[in-house]
Amino acid sequence: MKPDDIISYLELINEEKAHLQKGMNYRVGRNYSVFLMSVRKNAPYADQINHTTGALIYEGHDHPKTKTISDPKSIDQPMTTSSGSWTENGKFFKAATDYKTGLSTKPELVKVYEKIASGVWCYKGFFELVDVEQESDGRRRVFKFHLLPIAKTILQGNIELPCNRIIPTYVKVEVWKRDKGKCQICNSNKNLHYDHVIPFSKGGSSLTSKNIRLLCAKHNLEKSNKIMIFLPWISVGASALTLHRMN
Ligand SMILES: [Zn+2]
Repeated sequence: MKPDDIISYLELINEEKAHLQKGMNYRVGRNYSVFLMSVRKNAPYADQINHTTGALIYEGHDHPKTKTISDPKSIDQPMTTSSGSWTENGKFFKAATDYKTGLSTKPELVKVYEKIASGVWCYKGFFELVDVEQESDGRRRVFKFHLLPIAKTILQGNIELPCNRIIPTYVKVEVWKRDKGKCQICNSNKNLHYDHVIPFSKGGSSLTSKNIRLLCAKHNLEKSNKIMIFLPWISVGASALTLHRMN
């Protein structure tokens, strides 16, 4: 799976081998955690992503609704449960603090998925949890977890692409609706991916839906193969030139 791949909820739980119901999931994988995020309008949490650096600020989870707590948004996000064990907030708070203070040398690895439409998710890649704050949202104290995208990581044999092409969620949602959840070449609704019409490396923008479209894996691959055929031609030309000069 590559960042910007679009998957169903079923594919998501197959990938993670866990029925993820909550936003924050500490160590569901063998050596990483999973965050589910949603920055659509009316999304319940105020997650933010910086479209230049790719840095993510993820809000902690609320206290669950109970008989005595009817409005969880009115009380502080909990660090521990009523029985005194860590909540997911607490586990990630400890991981971030341990890293910040040098108690652990490696930051917690977090795999991030974001919701695009009902039952439709987009994979955002791996992030590192580097910091945490508790701050007021005007009514109560909330957790803000700071994550940085990993440029490249090898995990379970998968090589991730550099995370340098951050498409904002509002663009993704707009493109998803416009393209009706289908490949714009063959109309397939399987193995979809967000594709830059003009590649990011050639100056194509990620910030407008005009430069982003849905393509299936086959047509996305055909497009990148064309670019790969072109590249050896340039390098052959360059080495021929170098040889000529050396002679
Ligand atoms: Zn296609």
